[in-house]
Amino acid sequence: MRKAARSRWTVEGNEPDEGFERLARVVKSSEIARLIAAPTQANETDLLFGKIFEECYTTATWIYEKAFYVRGISKKFIRKLAVELKLAGIYSSSLVRKAYRMYSCLVKHGVIGRKPKTMFRRLNDEIVVAAQPDLVDEFYCEFKTYPLDEYAKAQAKVFSWVIEEPIRLVGLVEREDGYFELQEEMVNAEGLKFPNIPPDIGEFQWVCEECDRPLDFCECYFEEEYEYL
Ligand SMILES: [Zn+2]
Repeated sequence: MRKAARSRWTVEGNEPDEGFERLARVVKSSEIARLIAAPTQANETDLLFGKIFEECYTTATWIYEKAFYVRGISKKFIRKLAVELKLAGIYSSSLVRKAYRMYSCLVKHGVIGRKPKTMFRRLNDEIVVAAQPDLVDEFYCEFKTYPLDEYAKAQAKVFSWVIEEPIRLVGLVEREDGYFELQEEMVNAEGLKFPNIPPDIGEFQWVCEECDRPLDFCECYFEEEYEYL
């Protein structure tokens, strides 16, 4: 009852006056994965292109969700992607063609869904691990615009540890004819060994003592509040 009356919004940056929050270091799954295996090196254009593609693709699947196969969505995707490539100064018709082929390959293999909320799990007294895969539909799914590497697999393992469900990990391999093939595997957290996490990695945040989520993500007190409405 007292918990419910207490505002969750007043603690930011201040020492809390009651013991419902604690300070923890929130570390992203990708930061942990990078300590396990270095990501495949890519040039700057490839990195930018991959990032723009992921954003446009995730938005398209999110907005259109189950209507994703409806005609016209691919045109909207391409238009948005072309604008983003121009803004980033890397537009070329060959990149647009490449993106369309990647899009077609992912859609054909049912790599669709909504962007899930960020999820958290406590590693120890100091560290909380955050995970946000790209999509959730039947499974949580992480897709890469490049062939799967050790970094991608390590990241999916950490995701799976946080979410406590297997992750559908998908990669794209460009064939000699310019079309794409899908690589995929189900990844679980089995055998995951956490590396030593240096103190400069992660971000200190107030987290809820009950659910280990940062306060912006905690819903523990909402439920109690609703009971009295
Ligand atoms: Zn909570």
